[in-house]
Amino acid sequence: MATYTKLIGNQSELLQRGLKDLEEKDHELASILDEEVRRQHRTLSLVASSCSVTPRTLATASSVLANITAEGLPGKRYHAGCVNVDLVETLAIQRALKLFNAQYAGVQSHSASNANYQVLSALLKPGDTILGMALDYGGHLTHGSAVTFSGTYYRAVGYGTTPEGIIDYDQVYELARMHRPRIIICGATAYSRVVEFARFREIADEVGAILLADISHIAGLVATNRHPSPINAAHVTTMCTHKQLAGPRGGLILSGRDADQQVPGMDTTFRRALQQAIFPWMQGAPAVNIVAAKAAAFNYAMSPEFDASMGRIRMAADAVAAAFQEKGYDVVGGRTENHTVLIRLTDSMTGAIAEAALEQCSIIVNKNRIPGETRSSFVTSGLRIGTGSLAQRHIDQQGCHQIVDLVCRILDSVHPLGDKEFELDPVLQEHFRSEAEKLCGIYPLADYTW
Ligand SMILES: *Cc1c(COP(=O)(O)O)cnc(C)c1O
Repeated sequence: MATYTKLIGNQSELLQRGLKDLEEKDHELASILDEEVRRQHRTLSLVASSCSVTPRTLATASSVLANITAEGLPGKRYHAGCVNVDLVETLAIQRALKLFNAQYAGVQSHSASNANYQVLSALLKPGDTILGMALDYGGHLTHGSAVTFSGTYYRAVGYGTTPEGIIDYDQVYELARMHRPRIIICGATAYSRVVEFARFREIADEVGAILLADISHIAGLVATNRHPSPINAAHVTTMCTHKQLAGPRGGLILSGRDADQQVPGMDTTFRRALQQAIFPWMQGAPAVNIVAAKAAAFNYAMSPEFDASMGRIRMAADAVAAAFQEKGYDVVGGRTENHTVLIRLTDSMTGAIAEAALEQCSIIVNKNRIPGETRSSFVTSGLRIGTGSLAQRHIDQQGCHQIVDLVCRILDSVHPLGDKEFELDPVLQEHFRSEAEKLCGIYPLADYTW
């Protein structure tokens, strides 16, 4: 144990040397990093798809595991020298299985997009049909969008929401019966209501389709039982480890009760197909330092601190939605059941203008398309707000109301001049910016930054 602590100490010296070297010998890059540290410190992030990594994640991702090439799986490597790497990956797998109560876990995918493509390529042939949530309604690019691999190498059909912004399960059923997809994908990137995985499975079973659930956005809520789990409802579940789990940029593939079932129409099980899909099929060696950072993140996600943070995410989302409604804004879906609040803007205000004006005032949000959208995805009529970072700031109800009040005052002060151009009085802007920075000081990211 003593040696272990000492070597960790040596690593921290190494990291400090690295940072010092960067400052002295690569001023160009160092100054950008410096500026980014400052920006994150002073900016209120209301981005639904990100959070700050834990110090543990940062430390493991920067560890000497970065030196190792390790194609293959623990105990079945194509490279020697993997004794500790095998222990790290085994630990990451065991923790993922426990955290999500799964039977199979693959921890090597470099991102959730990669994980989705690995699953599709493992289970589908080019030209097979995918039924996924359409991008315009909150689905993800990798679920069949025409501008991606998924919408080009497969025949993609998209389902949407009702005008109220709730998944149209009747339409999913109709489209599934009409198109007989090989796979149905559920899970979204801009959706604020519970995804009914069991209902999707019923539909999949009725048409003989495989069900893939992508829980990138809600992984933390699922892990802490604040959202139904897809693990046994879907044949396969994917997610990224950096949106709610405060882990490194990476992907995770899981399977539950179907892990050792035969893949329909194939001479293999889900477990074997999924393993081969990563290596040698789609990816080379894993980033072992990132696998370690995932192991650290899964451990953190089983802690009371993480559970409390996910509690705050929900509290804050409810508070933000209610505050916008009090100000007269329409919340898509009527309310939120996760970390996301989708706002329908007023007629003359576009998502592009709102996003840009708020950024000038040190508040980061994403423009977003809304049900019945009439504008392009570069303009949009809505905003997507997420409370992950606010939860990490230990936000309370009062803080949520102050932030929404500030956002609404900024939007009220903006004069749109078309779809993207606008005017905002520079004096007001400075005033708003200092208000936002003051809120960052009242609710600091103390557990995650410096
Ligand atoms: C963000 C997201 C992804 C992509 O994640 P990356 O790790 O950035 O590739 C995939 N699916 C959904 C639903 C997402 O929200």
